[in-house]
Amino acid sequence: MNSRQILEKIDTAFKEALQHGPRKEGLIFPIDLEEIENDELRAICSRLASIFDMINEACHYSDQLAQGNLEAKASRTNIFTMSLKGLQANLAHLTWQVNQVADGDLNQQVYFLGEFSNSFNHMINSLREKQVLEQRLKIITDVLGAGLLLVDPGGKIIIANPEALKLLDYTFDEIEGTRIHDVIHRQLPDSSIFRPGENPLRDAVETGKDYDDDDGVFTCKSGLMIPVMISSRPVYKNDTLDGTVITFRDITDQKKYLHSLETINKLLERQALTDALTGINNRMYFDKTLADEIQRAQRNKSPLSLIIFDIDHFKKVNDGYGHSAGDNVLIRLTRLITANIRVIDFFARWGGEEFVILTPGTGPDGVMQFAEKLRSKVESFNFKEPEKITLSFGVTTFIDGDNDTALINRADDALYRAKEDGRNKVRYSK
Ligand code: GH3
Ligand code: MG
Ligand code: MG
Repeated sequence: MNSRQILEKIDTAFKEALQHGPRKEGLIFPIDLEEIENDELRAICSRLASIFDMINEACHYSDQLAQGNLEAKASRTNIFTMSLKGLQANLAHLTWQVNQVADGDLNQQVYFLGEFSNSFNHMINSLREKQVLEQRLKIITDVLGAGLLLVDPGGKIIIANPEALKLLDYTFDEIEGTRIHDVIHRQLPDSSIFRPGENPLRDAVETGKDYDDDDGVFTCKSGLMIPVMISSRPVYKNDTLDGTVITFRDITDQKKYLHSLETINKLLERQALTDALTGINNRMYFDKTLADEIQRAQRNKSPLSLIIFDIDHFKKVNDGYGHSAGDNVLIRLTRLITANIRVIDFFARWGGEEFVILTPGTGPDGVMQFAEKLRSKVESFNFKEPEKITLSFGVTTFIDGDNDTALINRADDALYRAKEDGRNKVRYSK
């Protein structure tokens, strides 16, 4: 085959390739090298045939890469695949970097892909900022001294901070996805279950309203109910309810403290109105009660009587038996009187060895009989040291327009007459 024929065949092969693209099997060198007799020409054609092979390999290699096969291989000596190999290595490294990011390593940066590198690095920086923010949020919820729950609009628990889990004695797995009103907020302080439609926290969560309760209860895993202060705030995303953040505090200690304060207050209140020696009502309480009862008698036109009584010759008891024997007489006497009056009668120590009884609903005859009964009971009672004491009684009844002073003065006058008349007597002042 002469050189002209050779050139023609090569030219035809190129024309075809340029017109129709290489065939499936690639560019085929159109001449059998064995048929070329001229040594120099054969050597040139042999080099041309190797270039055909390189082009075929480069085409196959780039096809493989285009299809995403990063394992594709090309021979080391192929001059057409050099820069593609560089790209292949970079893409393999990028794949590795993405995997690192997926595993949480946000230090990866890309520099070889122009615009893509900028986007990638920007994405990593955003992820890093988000991660920092998430870590800060986690720190805040972790160290928050209050329980914190995030629930979805159906009330299902999405997040619970360590304090919430500690207070409620749950692990997160145990309460994740449960509805707050089914598990934690289902009971009223009296331990009854909320009736359908009457759970205010559930209502707030489902309708996206604020809710605050200083006196709520949450039910722990064990069924124990703890008093809590609840604050619930809805979270909206693009004007749509997205969930609710609920914070709560255990107020057991405050409750205990309040309870003991209330008890102490009641005790102090009671003490302020009680006579220290005998434990019956004191004069302060009597003054207030007298004013109230006078008002009531005036308003209702109902009878009201007053008895003042005084121990006869009490000084002699102290002188003869000692002051503490005198005290015991006062104590025994108040017990005896208390046992012989009605619940509605108001008995008080007026001062020293003088006492008063207010008898609402009792008129002149009734109160005289009552005083007489008491006089007689005391006269016959054994007080031990001394065995016997007697009382003198001054009695009066409320008259329309009376004030407290008028009523007391009349009873006092009657008492004075009882003493004058020889003691151990009941006298009445109109
Ligand atoms: P009269 O029959 O006139 O009432 O004579 P009396 O001795 O009872 O009256 P007087 O007012 O002279 O004395 C009252 C006494 O009561 C004097 C006082 O020491 C005593 N006394 C008052 N309060 C107490 C008390 O709390 N305990 C004791 N032990 N004695 C008291
Ligand atoms: Mg007296
Ligand atoms: Mg006396």
